[in-house]
Amino acid sequence: MDIPTAKKALKEYFGYDSFRPGQEEIISSVLAGKDVIVLMPTGGGKSVCYQIPAITMKGTCVVISPLIALMKDQVEGLKSNGVRAAYINSTVAAIDQRALENDLVRGKIDLLYVSPEKAVSRDFNALMGAIDLNLIAVDEAHCISEWGHDFRPEYTQLQFLKKQFPRTPVIALTATADRLTRKDIETQLGLVKPEKYISSFDRPNLSLEVRPGRKRLEQIVDFVKNRKGQSGIVYCLSRKSTESVAAKLNHNGIKAAYYHAGLPSSQRAAVQEDFINDNVPVICATIAFGMGIDKSNVRWVIHYNLPKNIEGYYQEIGRAGRDGTKADTLLFYSYADVMTMRNILSENGSNNENVQLSKLERMQQYAESLICRRQILLNYFSENTDGNCGNCDICKNPPQHFDGTVVAQKALSAVYRTRMRVGVNLLIDILRGSKRREVMDNNYHTIKTYGAGAEYSAGDWQQFIQQMLNLGLLEIAYDKKNVLQLTDASEEVLFKGRKVELVRMTSVMERRKQRQSDVPRPKPVRERLRDELFEKLRELRRVLAKKKGIPPYVVFTDASLEEMAAERPSTADEFLQISGVGNKKLQDFGRPFLKAIQEYVVEKSTEGRRVKGSTYLITYQMYQKGLSPEDIAMNRGIHPTTVYSHLAYLFEKGEDVDIKQYVSDFDLEKIALEYNADNKVTPKMIFEKFEGDLEYHIIRLGLSLAKGR
Ligand code: ADP
Ligand code: ZN
Repeated sequence: MDIPTAKKALKEYFGYDSFRPGQEEIISSVLAGKDVIVLMPTGGGKSVCYQIPAITMKGTCVVISPLIALMKDQVEGLKSNGVRAAYINSTVAAIDQRALENDLVRGKIDLLYVSPEKAVSRDFNALMGAIDLNLIAVDEAHCISEWGHDFRPEYTQLQFLKKQFPRTPVIALTATADRLTRKDIETQLGLVKPEKYISSFDRPNLSLEVRPGRKRLEQIVDFVKNRKGQSGIVYCLSRKSTESVAAKLNHNGIKAAYYHAGLPSSQRAAVQEDFINDNVPVICATIAFGMGIDKSNVRWVIHYNLPKNIEGYYQEIGRAGRDGTKADTLLFYSYADVMTMRNILSENGSNNENVQLSKLERMQQYAESLICRRQILLNYFSENTDGNCGNCDICKNPPQHFDGTVVAQKALSAVYRTRMRVGVNLLIDILRGSKRREVMDNNYHTIKTYGAGAEYSAGDWQQFIQQMLNLGLLEIAYDKKNVLQLTDASEEVLFKGRKVELVRMTSVMERRKQRQSDVPRPKPVRERLRDELFEKLRELRRVLAKKKGIPPYVVFTDASLEEMAAERPSTADEFLQISGVGNKKLQDFGRPFLKAIQEYVVEKSTEGRRVKGSTYLITYQMYQKGLSPEDIAMNRGIHPTTVYSHLAYLFEKGEDVDIKQYVSDFDLEKIALEYNADNKVTPKMIFEKFEGDLEYHIIRLGLSLAKGR
């Protein structure tokens, strides 16, 4: 078995033209019989690394996978691509399992998914001995490590695999593994000199944005309205806010459901199903939602609250854009969230509280970053990058610094004059001259800096104070009700003329708003038509998926639909060129999609638009309606020769066009002879040779027929 064969299978079954970085090397190693450890981010394309060897090699590959719900999806997805796949877990009835075992022994299954519990059972052991085992894949391999949060005791029993099947290669795959876990995977599975592939954890298709957490609900409503019909998740800290955010969205005409651990399991399952099947686009959920969902077309993720660490955050935003198409992420950040988080962490009173607090701090630093956010994320995962990513809010709108010495002095002086007894919010009220009770009761309206910062909004002040905390000009006394404290550095600013540079974030927001409003840029027609067709295809996908009882993204990914909407294939052959369309998908869905594209293009063209890919399609549609080539030409105001060449093209692409009727046998023989003598012969050459005895369009049709013989 070799790479060209693997590539052919990739196209035939999955409809992809080339391997992603890493995949080819990994597959070569597997085909060479080596053990392999694969570390790739979610959506990186791990599955292909064992699925392609499983399909191309003789025998069966056993895949151990811990999430039963996911197993079903994966097998469905494979079957929809024409791959012989099946699964065994506790949900499979004994009788079905026996039938499956028969198929397995007879070599009729290429990929068998199995839960860890089953994998270590005695029956299964016997079964494994009876089949022609070509590869063992251990998915989510980090579950083997007690250090991780997904520890599965059964995984530690998987050592038997290598002992019992020493000659079968094992491939272990995970999206989350630090060095310790990696070591665990290697030793616990007893891998023999495994090759290790560690790919970048970067997900360049995910945009990153952090916004101050003011008026979150309004912002979310706007955000979602701009992404009509797209699937997305709003992660909230509390169960209550999942409900209130969902209510707010519904109130604004956006279909949204909520999900949290407090709901009965039947309701949770229903919400999940509705999301997967594109019936409900938006889910407001606690972080319990998302595990065990393979939905590739989640287009955005919002964090309503600050996550408690970067690992969790990265995993959650990672649920967006698994199909590799552009997806947006948005995090709301406020100081109050940090306080809440701190309280939760210390109330939990776990023994590694300090570790958790420092992880929270790193999360906070990310949210407050003034440099490229992706750099911070990747550095956190020990991946060094330099340069700006161009797809985060900081890169898109670099912050503007200004001399903030006076601003800082006002704040510090107020802290000084209130004898370091106020927290962030009260300080802001004092600076802005609020008449709030707490201000008046404490006589804070009499201090010199009262109202001295009224020219800035509360949001601006929040940002300034954040930056001052980061600069060490202020500290929070967490043990004294979170009041602000002065530091040595603050004295330098107050009394020794130290300069302070600050950034005004709202100016970034303002600039963005301005740009959006002062350029009332309607989308160019070309883009609008593409979007319209995409919507049409998306709806068709939903209907077909429902009929088949599979999730829409299993029919086609968003990426495939986007390509269809842009390329507008008109023949089966062209349809196969779309990434994600393999032989089985063409067979199952080619007709309805081609028809929808044709209808759309023809409809737009009759409206007088010049639409890409239209000319063949219009001819084709008229032909299908039974018009003669001459009538088509007249109708369309084009030359009949052009119509004949359209028909010849469609015929060559394998479409059902009977061009034989236009060419006599006698003429065809003459042309075929010329073609057989020199298959590079052009119509012009033949035309000249016969000195006009053969009409041009007859030659064109005859050549197509001769080629097809
Ligand atoms: P992972 O298991 O690493 O999270 P998947 O194997 O589910 O990722 O792959 C993520 C997406 O990328 C899927 O939609 C998959 O079909 C697609 N994909 C995988 N390999 C390729 C490839 N070589 N070319 C294009 N798309 C690919
Ligand atoms: Zn960036």
